[in-house]
Amino acid sequence: MCVMSKPLYNEELLEEYIELVIRKGLNLQPGQQLVIACSVDCAFFARLAMVAAYKAGASNVHMRWVDDFCSRTRFLMADDSVFDKYPAWDKLLMDSLSDEGAAFLNVIATDPEVFKGVDSNRLSRFSITTSNALKGYFGKIITGGVRWTTITVPSEAWANKVFPNAASAEEAISLLWDRIFAATRVGDGKALERWSNHIDALKRRVKMLNDYRFTELLIKNSAGTDLRMKLPKNHIWKGSGDVAKDGLPFLPNIPTEEIFSAPYANGVDGTVVGTMPNVFQGNLIEDFTITFKDGKVVSYDAKSGREQLANMINDIPGMDKLGEIALVEYNSPISNTGVLFYNTLYDENASCHLALGSAYPGCVEGGDSMNEEQRKAAGINVSDSHQDFMFGSADMSIVGVTASGKEVVVFKDGNFAI
Ligand code: ZN
Ligand code: ZN
Repeated sequence: MCVMSKPLYNEELLEEYIELVIRKGLNLQPGQQLVIACSVDCAFFARLAMVAAYKAGASNVHMRWVDDFCSRTRFLMADDSVFDKYPAWDKLLMDSLSDEGAAFLNVIATDPEVFKGVDSNRLSRFSITTSNALKGYFGKIITGGVRWTTITVPSEAWANKVFPNAASAEEAISLLWDRIFAATRVGDGKALERWSNHIDALKRRVKMLNDYRFTELLIKNSAGTDLRMKLPKNHIWKGSGDVAKDGLPFLPNIPTEEIFSAPYANGVDGTVVGTMPNVFQGNLIEDFTITFKDGKVVSYDAKSGREQLANMINDIPGMDKLGEIALVEYNSPISNTGVLFYNTLYDENASCHLALGSAYPGCVEGGDSMNEEQRKAAGINVSDSHQDFMFGSADMSIVGVTASGKEVVVFKDGNFAI
């Protein structure tokens, strides 16, 4: 229900943002196809992105329209059998276009609480159904088989959640656009240059972390997190975007501030305390703790959304172990906006985070060409799902331990010390 009587954003900045997404994010090539998934509430954005894609030489641009109202209504009113059967036409679309080498742009504008009150059993069943049906496509997504980028655009419901005290929905949307531009380094026409510098800085740290070959990390803060996390023998730290199998760099997420790897799936002990609300399947989970023993979740609690947390951990195979550890400085453009976005893409790039579920295969040597059994043998977690949650804080301390037992301070007071 975006009423766009007058633009709620600076048009030059929006153009710069779209340029960043098409050129640097997707690295769209002449003759390539593009698939845009976008909410109908933000159709104007998809149209502008489509024009920019054709200008960059796209051969064809395909739209996958998303609508919060329709998604919610289906979960509330459709026949129960619907949630165990994925629409064949959509599977065909995703499989065929990813086989043909299309790039994928996901524009997230979802109301953080779109599925509040929906039967959580329907949500988790459909999530499993979707992962099974689109296994081929998701496999390409996590191994660089396609270039893809996820970004956000404000919708009215989302902007109102982030700025509940704004005088009007228009003001909330406009405020959210300002924060999005700031967090994505858009301004003065310099986004491409700023991102090149940012990527170079991330690359330097990624190299340092890889050179240390840590065997484990000791992670602590005053919120109550106290974790001892082993790392797989051949782990790889990644960040600064990705390189697809065709050799071309791309940015899976804009913004991206994280440097991440995979924990040893059976080697995590201790407790982690969430420091930001988590949006899972359109529901909020707040004030939660999760305790691990030998990598497996042994207990958990949440002040709100405990049922959703239980579903997340118990219903989907592999969601009871960690698949990602990501380091993000407390002093980053996103956390400096001072805004809680209620959106994982933004909030995860403002805070150190972990993910339950699948590890990125590329986080161990040779992982992108391993099958699931080989990935498990290499020590990383395998699941059809991956859910990030934030646990960073201003006093986060992380110490890396090398094979010879030497301790290196990696994070001090929430920021990198290396
Ligand atoms: Zn991450
Ligand atoms: Zn993640």
